[in-house]
Order: sequence, then C-alpha cells, then structure tokens
Amino acid sequence: MSRDEQRGEASGPDAPDADLVLDEVEQKYRQVFDGAAIGMALVAVGPEPAPGTLLDVNRAMCEMLGRSADQLVGMPADTITHPDDVAVGAVAAERVRSGELDRGVVEKRYLRADGAEVWVRVTMSAIHGPDGDPLHLVAQVEDITARKDAENELIYRAMHDPLTGMPNRSHAMEHLERALARASRAGGLVGVLYLDLDDFKEINDSLGHAAGDELLVAVGQRVRSVLRAGDLAARLGGDEIAVVCDGLTTPGEVAPIAQRVINTLSAPIEIADRVLHVSASIGAATGGVGATADGLVREADAAMYRAKGAGKGRYIVGDESLAALAARQLEVEETLRGALEDDGLRLVYQPIVDLGSGRVVAVEALLRMVHPERGELVPAEFVDVAESRGLIVPIGRWVVEEAVRQAAQWHAALGDRAPQVWVNASDRQLGRHDLAGVVSDALAAHGLPADLLGIEIAERRLVRLDHFERDDLAAIRELGVGIGIDDFGTGRSGLDYLRDLPVTDLKVDDSLTARLGTDTASTAIAESLVTLGHGLGLTVTVEGVETAAQLGWLRGWACDRAQGYLLGRPHGADEVGAVLTEPDGPVAQD
Ligand code: C2E
Ligand code: MG
Ligand code: MG
Repeated sequence: MSRDEQRGEASGPDAPDADLVLDEVEQKYRQVFDGAAIGMALVAVGPEPAPGTLLDVNRAMCEMLGRSADQLVGMPADTITHPDDVAVGAVAAERVRSGELDRGVVEKRYLRADGAEVWVRVTMSAIHGPDGDPLHLVAQVEDITARKDAENELIYRAMHDPLTGMPNRSHAMEHLERALARASRAGGLVGVLYLDLDDFKEINDSLGHAAGDELLVAVGQRVRSVLRAGDLAARLGGDEIAVVCDGLTTPGEVAPIAQRVINTLSAPIEIADRVLHVSASIGAATGGVGATADGLVREADAAMYRAKGAGKGRYIVGDESLAALAARQLEVEETLRGALEDDGLRLVYQPIVDLGSGRVVAVEALLRMVHPERGELVPAEFVDVAESRGLIVPIGRWVVEEAVRQAAQWHAALGDRAPQVWVNASDRQLGRHDLAGVVSDALAAHGLPADLLGIEIAERRLVRLDHFERDDLAAIRELGVGIGIDDFGTGRSGLDYLRDLPVTDLKVDDSLTARLGTDTASTAIAESLVTLGHGLGLTVTVEGVETAAQLGWLRGWACDRAQGYLLGRPHGADEVGAVLTEPDGPVAQD
C-alpha cells in the first residue's frame, strides 16, 4: 500500500477518529521501536534541528552506547561516532535523504561513554511526510564488534609469526613492495637486510627446541631494539629474519644498520639458565626505482650466503648496482616483447582436484616465457617487469585467448568431463583495458560455454580496485565466467570486499598450506577461511598441497578442491589432457 492510500484510509468519510488511529499507530510504533533487539534511532534531516541530530533512540541503542536516552536525544550523531568514520556516515545519510538511495548501509565505529569503540552496521532509510519530503531518517544499528574483532584477529594472525609475534614473510614482502613504490614515486632507496643465525641448528639440537624457540624470540627483540621506528623486522621462517629500512638516501646507509645488528647480537644471551654466544650472518641490499621486492630479497639472500662463506658473524652488502638491475630489467622487457611477437609464450596447466569425487574438475593456466639463452622462465622472473612496462595488457590478452582456445578444444573432445580453465589476471588488465571485452570475444570466437572459464585475481590486488575495475569484474561475472580470489589469506584489509565483488571461488594461499598441522595458528586460519568461503556460498580451493597429511586436513574440513604438486604439477596441454581422460582421477578415494 502506498503512503497516499494509507492516508486516504485514515481520513476517509467512514474512518474512525483520525487522532485515535494515530494514537494507536504511535503506540504500536513505540512498542516496536523500544522493544527492538537491535539499536534504533530517529535522526533529523534538517534544517531544524540540524541534520544528524538524534531525535529518538531505543533501549538497545542506549545499552550499546552506554548512555541514557536523555543524554543521547538532541546530540549530533557525529559526537558518538569515531572521528575517522564521521564522513562515511554523513555521505550515506545524505544519499538516503536526497532519495538517491532507498536504503544506506555503512559499517562504522561508535564511541561508548567509557571511550570504548563499538563496531556497528547501520541501515538507514527515510520516513516521508505527506508531500513526499523526508521527515527524518530511521537508523537500525547492529553491533558487529565481535565479527570485526574476529576479522582483525584473522588478519593479524595471517600477517604475523606466532612464535615471535614478528611480522611474517608475506607481511614483510608487502611492506617492502609498498616501500619500493613510495621510493620510486618520491625518490630515495629502500634497504633490505637478510639475517641468518650462525650454527642455530647446533643450538637447537643440543639445548632442545624450546630453548631454540626462546632464542629466536630474544634475537627478534634485540634486532628490533636497534632499528628506527619506521623499519620493519620480520621472521621469514626458521632462523631467518629480514629487516626492511625505508627512506634511505644513499646505498652506503645500509652498512651501519647491519653493523648495529651484528653488534647487538654479539652480547651474550641468557637462555634456559645458560649463557649463549650467538652470531648472525647478514646480507644487505638497497634498491630504488625499478627494483622489485623479490629481486631485492634475492640479492640480500645471495649476499648473506657470501657472508656465511666468508666466515660468519659479518655482513656483506650486495653489489648488484642499480645500473645492473636496470639492465637486467631491460633485457627481460626486450625478451618479453620478442616472445609476444614470435610464439615465445606458452601456457602450462596444473590440475585442480575435486575432493569429493577425486576427479580433475579444473585446471589453472600458468604462463611461461621461453628465453633464448636461459630457457623457460616462470612468472616470478618476468611478470613484474611486464606490469611495470605496460606489457601485461597484451600478454594478458594472449593468455585469455590461448586458454579459451585450449578449453574449447577440451570441451569438444571431452564433453561433460572437460575441465574448467582458470586464468590469472593482473588488476592492470581491468577497467579501461576492458578485460570483460577480451574474455567475451574469446568465448564467442571459440564457442566456449562461459562457465568453463574462470579469472583469478590476487587478494592483495582486489582490495585496491577502483569502481571502473570493479565494473569490469562484474561484467566478466555477468558473462557467466567464474571469479576467483587468489592467494586468499595473505591480504591485509578487512573482508568487506567479499560482499561487494561478484566472487565465485576462493583459493587459499599455499603459505598456509605449508604450515598445516605444524603450526596451530595457521591451521586454525586455514580452517576458518574454508568455513568462511562456504558460509558465503563460494567454492574453496586450497593451493600448494604437497603432502598426504595436508590433504587429510582438507578432507576433514570438507574443503571443495585442492591443487598442488601432490595432485599434479603444471604440464603442457597434451600431458594434462592425458590425465583428464583417465577413468579415475589422480587421487584415490579412501
Ligand atoms: P598462483 O596463481 O598462486 O599460482 C600457483 C603457483 O604455485 C604456480 O607457480 C604453481 O606452479 C605453484 N605451485 C603449484 N602447486 C605447488 C605446490 O604444491 N608447491 C609449491 N611450492 N608451489 C606450487 P608459477 O607458475 O610460478 O606462478 C606464480 C604466479 O605467477 C602465480 O601464482 C600467478 O600469480 C602468476 N601468474 C602465472 N601465470 C600468470 C598469467 O598468465 N598472468 C598473470 N598476470 N600472472 C600469472
Ligand atoms: Mg593463480
Ligand atoms: Mg595462488
């Protein structure tokens, strides 16, 4: 019933006394309002009282905010909102007030009277007067603090080493990537130290793992104690620590930092009632414009090995000069351009196994480049250059076309047993480069059913998409093509994007798989990611499965799919085609 009809009924010739009806309506409304289990508030739209003023609040809202109705009514909503979240709320309220949105939903933080933060999900809608103008807004306020805490905990754990509490490898790599991006925008250099304890294995073997663990914690603390506030020390695994130093101006500045770390570690450390003398070997490297995170870490790692070889307890600064680095990148770029023109690119396919049936139900297409002297190169050696030189767009187009051609060939040969083919894409192919157009053309040219294709984008790239890129992704999904989040569990931001993007699949990162059963935090995180995916109705694939024990964990969680060397390495299309036609898949059912 429209608002006009409602009014017509109440004021018609046979209607009971309009004031009585209104009283009754008002009473019912009060009951609903006061008794609601979630917080509710009426908010002014202005001009008088000022927009955002709280006109009425219910009991649940008062409890949530630890304030009485008397305190709240008449207060601007901004005063109870976390300062960083005032703008999001105001924008949504204005869009609802102006009629642009029927309903506005925001997640933001309120501040309780005691100063504590409460995460809330606010759903706003407008109440209109007889002339259709908004009279006020109704806000329904749900306390989502527990969910946000769990999300933050998950993110924290995914980024930290459980033993030492230091950032872990993926955290360090992301930090380094960002530092390098800043350095190439603003000038300056980033330094990396790669530290490995000398003779750690002997300490571990003679004093036991508990003492070894204690030592690692102590070493982490010592290293951090000699760094500047902006520097990051991360545990890469085992007894390896990396330090990322931001904002250096000359390559020479990294040496004194390495020396400080060597010095602090040379003082005796007391562990398990013993006084230990430890030392570390350190490799250092610096990079600026054109340097990559992987390249820099590799260089520091190589220097660390030379430091060990030169007699331990010392540091060596890597000598790959900026000029040499630039030359190597230029060489890769030229080879890539050549490969694009002269059939130098190829795709290999890695099986993805359905854990219910044991069958290969999908494959992931992985790119290889043939280098005239160095043979076949893997993406780590050329994808970042392709991205920074704008070559990822034509290369990505080639990958989609080739993968779709191959998928169509399997479809023709195998019918129902044809695998879904997943293709990796970079965020740079989206938006103005119209990946949806490329995909749609390829599907049409080869007559491939859209559900036999999927596009994977890494989580860390998804969280920074602008709305053109999001639209492109939505258009791909509209075609019927799957959208997968790759390397899931390594990103850093909240999980909100999962709700907003048209995702069909999650691929849990292999860094978690590697620690299944050996590290309780990683195991718990991996399990909760599988559960999270299922809760959202997504297909979950776990990557990097190398052992039967890891596969056992996944089966226990009813994970949908698995991928990894245990189930099959990436191979050329012909070899993979042979596996696909086997009557039983590569995984025996137990
Ligand atoms: P990804 O999409 O996460 O692909 C999985 C990578 O893990 C592949 O490495 C694969 O060979 C490797 N892998 C699979 N199973 C195991 C295992 O059990 N253990 C271990 N240790 N590794 C395993 P690859 O082929 O070197 O690819 C690396 C990354 O390069 C890919 O990671 C993807 O992000 C990117 N990439 C690959 N092809 C393309 C492409 O066509 N376009 C773009 N933009 N990126 C691509
Ligand atoms: Mg992938
Ligand atoms: Mg992956």
